Amino acid sequence: MKKVVKFGGSSLADSEQFKKVGAIITSDPSRVYVIPSAPGKRFSGDDKVTDLLYRMYNKAYKDEDFGEEMDEIRSRYQEIIEGLGLTGFSLEGEFAQIERIMTQNPNSNYAASRGEYLNGRIMARYLGYEFIDAKDVIFFDEQGNLDAEKTNQVLTKVLSETPRAVIPGFYGRGFDGHVKTFSRGGSDITGSIVARACKADVYENWTDVSGFMVADPRIINNPVGIETITYRELRELSYMGASVLHEDAIFPVRHEGIPINIRNTNCPEADGTWIVESTCQKSGYVITGIAGKKGFCAVTVSKALMNSEVGFGRKVLQAFEDNGISFEHMPSGIDTMTIVVHEDEFMHKEQRVVSAIHRYAQPDSVEIESDLALIAVVGRGMKSMRGTAGRIFSALAHAQVNVRMIDQGSSELNIIIGVDNTDFEIAVRAIYDIFVKTRI
Ligand code: ASP
Repeated sequence: MKKVVKFGGSSLADSEQFKKVGAIITSDPSRVYVIPSAPGKRFSGDDKVTDLLYRMYNKAYKDEDFGEEMDEIRSRYQEIIEGLGLTGFSLEGEFAQIERIMTQNPNSNYAASRGEYLNGRIMARYLGYEFIDAKDVIFFDEQGNLDAEKTNQVLTKVLSETPRAVIPGFYGRGFDGHVKTFSRGGSDITGSIVARACKADVYENWTDVSGFMVADPRIINNPVGIETITYRELRELSYMGASVLHEDAIFPVRHEGIPINIRNTNCPEADGTWIVESTCQKSGYVITGIAGKKGFCAVTVSKALMNSEVGFGRKVLQAFEDNGISFEHMPSGIDTMTIVVHEDEFMHKEQRVVSAIHRYAQPDSVEIESDLALIAVVGRGMKSMRGTAGRIFSALAHAQVNVRMIDQGSSELNIIIGVDNTDFEIAVRAIYDIFVKTRI
């Protein structure tokens, strides 16, 4: 049995949290590869070390004095080193180097990556594990995307020679040879890459909540947790804003069918959520989760006899492509098609897109509606259950919510509902209540 364990920033925010993490790792000898994030917030309103590093870089870049940020960062690590009683261990040499690089040749990717790097150094020493610098084993291609195959090849070899190791999250080596980070929250991706490379039995992702909730706790008071969710369901939910795990983190493990187990460092006895390729476990409810986002626009293009005009859809979509806008959904009628896009991406380009649609497709009219919120109701159990859509829409009708758009994915894994931004929370509550509170 081999487990890869990733710990998020709040799990490593100070020495007390570090001790909890140490106890979790040593309680199970199969936890052989450890991926730390940078120290996160210790309390609400606190700074994440990664944010301090970005602030330091911004000052260094403008040639301003960054001593204050540097001192704060240094003291965060010093507290951890002292709290763990790591005698004879110091990061002073590392800080001197960071200071020098920040003064001579500041680089934001390098700066941000130091949060994980330094935490990795401490963690390796604390556990007595080997330290592997992510810069030597994780590679990006010329376009700035993860070079998954090269990374997997190199990392598999290195891990096969290193039975226990700490590999800092969030960064790797860019195509130009310099440190490059993933997007924010990217340590989740590192953990998944390591799990794939060593063919782990489980990728444990430790955070400060006991897994995924059926709905956003900022909207639903104390929502129930999700025990098991499939990669595909999770993809739908995280795309729609459910955040616990970075949305790209499932791809490497999916390659090998490795399950992800989301666990809570502050409550290690809880089972958390299992993310798996496929399961016969019933979720207990017809739906697995609800997620949604505000701020979409619907562009409706009408043209009589559109359905029989070959190439009409392509011409309309060309207008979006030319302006670099990706679309989210595309429900259509006989003489209309609607393209749903992100408002903030679309807003400043709207007139250009509208005129391009006219030029390419000669429609009868183009109408834009804004302030649309999308809600995804996701569940592998939906396709074998009659009446799911009926229940959703009657719940929304009872809650006086006007449904502006409906789109059922062809997989029958989700139903997307468009409502006014102002109805968003009411709609999520109505759907949650009908499936979870009344348990049907
Ligand atoms: N420390 C980085 C961030 O705050 C990456 C991570 O925590 O995964 O985004």
